[in-house]
Order: sequence, then structure tokens, then C-alpha cells
Amino acid sequence: MTNCIFCKIINKQIPCFKIYENKYVLSFLDINPILKGHILVIPKKHFTNVLDTDDFYLSEVIKVVKLISNNIKQKLNCDGINILNASGKAAEQSVMHLHFHILPRYDNDKLNTFPKTKYIKKDLTEIQKILKID
Ligand code: AMP
Ligand code: ZN
Repeated sequence: MTNCIFCKIINKQIPCFKIYENKYVLSFLDINPILKGHILVIPKKHFTNVLDTDDFYLSEVIKVVKLISNNIKQKLNCDGINILNASGKAAEQSVMHLHFHILPRYDNDKLNTFPKTKYIKKDLTEIQKILKID
């Protein structure tokens, strides 16, 4: 896609700090890292987000997410990993080319990726009825 910044990275029109590449997937450092070792993993074909990515590319991307996560864990000796994806503007997606964020996490790093909300859960069966896939 011509106006997509990640497609431009794939096509080498703009540079990136590459971490890994294979035939279908590219991984590079986030240009505005939340913390040291913040990595993005993207398919080399343009899809908007998880909702429209074909299953083949999605599985290739997830395989690389696992590879990169294990590599981060081993080399940065972190205590945990967050794998984050935003699908859609409301979910805070800013670049409209599928990507997963991988973040090394440390005990007591104080990063707040799962904020506590004021939502009070009532009857879970109501939403279960709506969402259940038979
Ligand atoms: P999101 O808000 O989930 O869509 O994340 C998009 C991410 O892409 C942000 O964390 C940006 O810092 C990152 N980003 C944007 N442009 C570039 C770039 N040229 N190279 C590397 N990362 C980028
Ligand atoms: Zn793209």
C-alpha cells in the first residue's frame, strides 16, 4: 500500500532497525520505544489489523512473535513479556498495517499495560450469551 509507513519499510524506501526477517515477516525496533527492547513484528504483505489478516500470514507472524519473545527473554534476561496488538482506532491503533508489539517486562518496572478500571462486573452470563460461539 503506497501510503503505509510499514509498507515503505518493507520496500526499503525508509530504514528500520531490523531484528529479524524471513520470507513473510519482518521484525524491527519501535522508533518510539516504551522501554529498551520494544520490538514490532509485521507481515510483509499489507493487512490493516488482526481482523482482516489472512490465516496464513497471521500464523507466520505469530510464529515470529514467539521467536522474538524467546530471543528477548534470553538476551535481556527479563522476567516476562507483553505481546500487544491494537486493532482499530478505538483500540489505539495508529499505524494501519498489522503489527504486534513485544515488550520485555521486569519485576517492579511499574509499567501499566493493564490498568484497573471502574467497570463493575454484574452477571457474566448475559455477555456470555451474546458472545458465545457454538
Ligand atoms: P500502534 O499505536 O499500536 O498502531 O503502534 C504503532 C507503533 O509504530 C508506535 O509504537 C510507533 O512508535 C511505531 N512506529 C511508527 N513509525 C515507525 C517507524 N518508521 N519505525 C519504527 N516504528 C514506528
Ligand atoms: Zn502496509
